[in-house]
Amino acid sequence: MTEPHVALSPAVSDEVRQTTCYMCACRCGINVHLRAGRVSYIEGNRDHPVNKGVLCAKGASGIMQITAPSRLQHPLKRVGPRGSGAFEPISWDEALSLAVAWMQPLRETAPEKLAFFTGRDQSQSLTGWWAQAFGTPNYAAHGGFCSVNMAAAGIYTIGGAFWEFGQPDWDRTKLFVLFGVAEDHDSNPIKIGLGKLKARGARVVGVNPIRTGYNAIADDWYGITPGTDGLMILSLIHCLFAAGKLDLAYLARFTNAPLLVNAADGPEKGLLLRNAEGQPIVIDRRSGAPAPWDGAGVEPDLGATWQGCRTVFQHMAERYLAPEYAPEAVAARCGISAPRIRALAAELARVAFDEAIEIAEPWTDFRGIRHQKMTGRPVSFHAMRGISAHSNGFQTARALHLLQIILGSVEVPGGYRLKPPYPKPVEAHGVPHFAAHPGTPLPGPVLGYVREPAHLALKPDGTPARIDKAFTWENPFSAHGLMHMVISNAHAGDPYPIDTLFLYMANMAWNSSMNTGRVMEMLTDTRADGEYVIPHIIYSDAYASEMVAYADLILPDTTYLERHDCISLLDRPISEPDAAGDSIRWPVIEPDREVRGFQSVLLDLGARLGLPGMVNDAGSPKFSDYADYIVHHQRRPGVGPLIGWRGADGAQEGRGDPNPAQLARYIENGGFYQAHVPAEAVFYKPWNAAYQAWAVKTGFQDTPQPYLFNIWSEPMRRFQLAAEGHGPAQPPEHLRAQVAEAMDPLPIWYPPFGEETATAYPLHALTQRPMDMYHSWGAQNAWLRQIRGRNFLYLPTKVWAKHGFAAGDYARVTSPSGEIVVPVAHMAALNEHTVWTWNAIGKRRAAWALDADAHEAKEGFLLNHLISELLPAKGDGHRWSNSDPVTGQAAWFDLRVKIERVGPRDHAEPAFAPIPRVVPKGGARA
Ligand code: SF4
Repeated sequence: MTEPHVALSPAVSDEVRQTTCYMCACRCGINVHLRAGRVSYIEGNRDHPVNKGVLCAKGASGIMQITAPSRLQHPLKRVGPRGSGAFEPISWDEALSLAVAWMQPLRETAPEKLAFFTGRDQSQSLTGWWAQAFGTPNYAAHGGFCSVNMAAAGIYTIGGAFWEFGQPDWDRTKLFVLFGVAEDHDSNPIKIGLGKLKARGARVVGVNPIRTGYNAIADDWYGITPGTDGLMILSLIHCLFAAGKLDLAYLARFTNAPLLVNAADGPEKGLLLRNAEGQPIVIDRRSGAPAPWDGAGVEPDLGATWQGCRTVFQHMAERYLAPEYAPEAVAARCGISAPRIRALAAELARVAFDEAIEIAEPWTDFRGIRHQKMTGRPVSFHAMRGISAHSNGFQTARALHLLQIILGSVEVPGGYRLKPPYPKPVEAHGVPHFAAHPGTPLPGPVLGYVREPAHLALKPDGTPARIDKAFTWENPFSAHGLMHMVISNAHAGDPYPIDTLFLYMANMAWNSSMNTGRVMEMLTDTRADGEYVIPHIIYSDAYASEMVAYADLILPDTTYLERHDCISLLDRPISEPDAAGDSIRWPVIEPDREVRGFQSVLLDLGARLGLPGMVNDAGSPKFSDYADYIVHHQRRPGVGPLIGWRGADGAQEGRGDPNPAQLARYIENGGFYQAHVPAEAVFYKPWNAAYQAWAVKTGFQDTPQPYLFNIWSEPMRRFQLAAEGHGPAQPPEHLRAQVAEAMDPLPIWYPPFGEETATAYPLHALTQRPMDMYHSWGAQNAWLRQIRGRNFLYLPTKVWAKHGFAAGDYARVTSPSGEIVVPVAHMAALNEHTVWTWNAIGKRRAAWALDADAHEAKEGFLLNHLISELLPAKGDGHRWSNSDPVTGQAAWFDLRVKIERVGPRDHAEPAFAPIPRVVPKGGARA
C-alpha cells in the first residue's frame, strides 16, 4: 500500500503585493499574498523601515477587514427619519450630484455653513487643502478629541512631539520612562524598541494608573493618580534643580534658558529682551555684553542679569525650587511616595550624567562652533494620550518636555529623537485662516499655530469664526480644532447655524462623542418647521458604523487594500530619526462593490464645485483620481505629496518635477521611500548646520531655520499679558483669570477641572485602547473579536473589597452627567482611586453588522455616556467647557464617578434600540 500524498506546506499564494497597513498610525509595511486574485494571507514586510516584518494582531487580521459583512456596498440616500436606518441605494452620479446641490449654494453665499470634519483620516494634507479651497474655516480632524495637548505642547516647546513624530534612541537608551501610553498607536515600533531595551538590559519604568500592555513589562511601575503626572514631573524637576543635576551646557547653547526676560512693568513685561534688530539677546560670557542669541561664536550665560532683567534660567530656578514641588508636598496627591519620586529623580540623574555616552562624530552648530563629538544622555521618555486627555494636559506635556530638556536628552544620542520633517519650530508653522468669503478660498491653511491674540479665529465683533470655537480665548492654541464640540454647537446654533455637516470616518453617534446619547438626540432634533436642526449630514466610511444611520447621504469608502493612499511628509509620514520616509497604498485588489476611495471622491466633488486647484482653466477636472493627485499635485514648486523618485527621470529626492512613473517606482520598492539623513546631521537637528542644509535640500523648508527650545513660551506670555490688561485684544472678563493661569510661559500644574466633585464622585474613570483594536474598527473583524469581544470595568482591590463585589457582578456607575450599569472585574495592578475599561468594545445593537445580541452590544459598554462636553454648572452663569483651556482638548480622562454594586445580571445599560441593517446579511467577498 502506498502512502497518500499530503501537501504539508501548500503554497499560500501565487502572487505577493506590497503595500501599507492601515489599522493604526504606525503604517507598517505588509506583504499581501494573493491566490487566484484573492487575498489569502498578510504578513509583515521584513524590508520595511517601520516594522521590519513585525505585524500586530490588527495588521495580521487585515484579511477580515476586506471580508467584513459590515462593508458598505453602494451610495445610500436616507428615505426614512434620521436614525431609522431607512436608506435606498443610489448611483454614484446621483450621490455626488446631491452633495454638490447642497454644497454649491453654501460656497457661493456662506462657505462657513459647510462643516467638514474627519476622524481617523490619514490624508489630512488633502482634506485640509480641500477645505481651504472650499473657503470654510470649519475643518479639522479628530486631534482635539485625541491628543492635541501632546502635539501642540511639543511643537510650542521643542518643535516636535511625542506620538509617531519622534522616538527614543532605542539602540542607546539605558533608562526609558513611559507615561500614559496606550498600545493602539505606534505599537510595532514601540514593541520592537522595548524588545531592544530588554535585550540590552536597559531599565524600563512605566508611569500609568493602569499596569497593562507595555507597563506590564516595565521593571518598575508608578501607579500614579490620573491628572497628576504634571505635578510629579515638576517634582522630579525640583529634585534635579536642588541636586544641581542639570545639563547646563545644553541649556545654555540650545534652549532659551539664557535669554533675558523683560522685567519692566508694562506691555512688554515677561517678553524676551530684544536688540534693535528685533533679535532676542543673551549675555555673551566672552564679553559680558549683550549679544544676539545666534551670533557667531556666542557663549550664552545662564546666570546673567542685565539692567534688572534676569534670564529664563533664573525664573526656572525660582519656580521649581519652591517647596510646593518638593516630593513630600506632592506625594499624597500623586499617589506616589516621596522616596519613590526622589529615587526616580536620582536614577534619571545618574544615568544621564554618570553614564553619558559619546559618539566621535564632529559637527558644526548654528553659531559656527565646531564640536568634535556628540555627547549623549541615555535617558529617554515617551508619552501619549494618558497625560494628554486632561484639562491640564497641555501644561503637563510641556512639563515633560522640560524634564527632558534639563537632562539634555532631546536630539542627542541615547535620548528622544525627532523624525524629519521634525524638528520644526512653531514659527515654521502657519497661523490659522478663518475669514470666510462667498466663492473664495481661504488665503492659507485652516489649521495653524497661534502665537499672539491677533491670530485668534475671531470675527470683528469678537465672536468665534469657527463652529467649534477653536482658536478663541477659551482655547487659544487649538491647533487640531475641537471636533467634539461641532455637533453640540451646530445644534445650538452657537456661534451660528450651519447647513451641511460633512464627516469622514468619524463615529460621532457613538464612541467619537462625549455624551453619546445626547449627541444622537441632537442629530435627530427638528426645528419648529419640521426640518432637522442640522439640515444635511453627509457621511463617508467603509463600514456600517453607528454614525451611518444618522446621515442623509452615505458615500461608501473602500477598504485599505482597495485604494490609493499617500502617507506624506506633508502630513504624518513614516520617517525614522535617521531618515525621512513616506509610503503609499495602492489597490492590491479591486473593490467588489459600488464603493470609491474617499480621497478620489473628494477630488471629484472639488472639480464639480469648481474649487481652485482641482480644475483646469477650462473648468475640467485637474486630477482623474487620488493617484493622479499624489503624483501631480505640487504644494510648492517642486514639492508634492511624495519625496521619492521626483523629476522627469525619477532621479531627484525631495524636490523635483512630478514624475508620471513615481507610483510604479514606489510599488517596485515595497511601497515606501527613504531619504537618509547624513551622518553629521543625525543628532542635534535644530542646531546642526548640516541638518539644516539637508532639510532645505530635501524640501522641508526653504531656508535654514535653527532655533532654541522654548522653555519660556513667548506666545503664551503674550496671552497672559492680554489677560493682565495689555494690548488691543483682551479676553472677556469671565475668562481673564483662566487665561492668566493657564497661559503661564513656564510649565505649571493645576488640578484637573471638576475636582470640586471629588467628594461625591471619588473615583477616576479611564478608558484604554487595546493594541488589538484601533478605535472601533476591530469590532467587525471576526478574528479580533475573538481576542476582545467583551469589556469589563476593572476595579482596584480596595474598591472591589469595600463594595463586596464578586465574579459575575455588575455595578451602577454614576458621574455628574450620566449613569451606566456594567459588568465588573477585579484588577490588582491599578491605582487605588481608579477604575477603567477598554474603549470602543461596546457597540450599538446591530451596528457594524453584528448580531443584535452580540457580546459587544449586550454586555459591552462605553464610558462616553458619562462624559459631558460641559462641566457641571458652577453657578456663575457660564457653562464651562470640559476641555483643556490652552488647546480645547477634550478632557475625557478627567472623568470622575462613584459606583455601587448591582449584582449579577446579563446586560449593560443604557441599551439603545437596534439599528436596522443597511448592509445585506452575510456580505463576504465573492
Ligand atoms: S502596528 Fe499593527 S495595525 Fe498598526 S500599522 Fe502596524 S501592523 Fe498595522
